[in-house]
Amino acid sequence: MTLDEIKAIVRTVPDFPKPGILFRDVTTLVGNGPGFAAAVELMAERARAVGAEAIAGIEARGFIFGAAIASRLGLGFVSVRKPGKLPVPVLAIDYALEYGTDTLEVDPEAVAEGQHVVLVDDLLATGGTALAAVELLRRAGARVDHALFAIDLFELGGGERLKRAGVAADGLLAFE
Ligand code: 5GP
Repeated sequence: MTLDEIKAIVRTVPDFPKPGILFRDVTTLVGNGPGFAAAVELMAERARAVGAEAIAGIEARGFIFGAAIASRLGLGFVSVRKPGKLPVPVLAIDYALEYGTDTLEVDPEAVAEGQHVVLVDDLLATGGTALAAVELLRRAGARVDHALFAIDLFELGGGERLKRAGVAADGLLAFE
């Protein structure tokens, strides 16, 4: 399956979650067996090529791609969670949203010191979410210098923001 064929499976929903936003909906991609398999395979190849020792995914859509990639490569999966979900003491980071703030949490024992962790999420927009996850994983001891996304909304500048933080961002599908 070509990248254009995979891209065509992503549904675009206008005015979600608010008027004027074009939401790129990956549920149609993960709901398509051949499309999902092709996307996971291509992302897993990229993670393998940069020497991933573990895959971290951001709750919730990053879990879908991240866990599939980790399993494909025989690597462990690190959960970057929304607040209050983990049953152990956590490392937490607050980060700014367009309106207000949000929090991500990780179990510090989920990562080994110096372990090369590749971060995965469904979509890169401004990069704020991914940057917070990178910072959190680094505090937990991980080496994080690569992040993989099914979709890169490249006009929003997330890739450049991540690059300034020492992270090479790689989006499988580029959308305006
Ligand atoms: P950022 O922090 O890079 O601005 O936003 C990326 C985060 O918001 C990701 O965790 C992603 O799941 C979510 N997100 C923002 N816009 C979209 C979108 O159009 N489609 C999807 N599927 N997720 C989005």
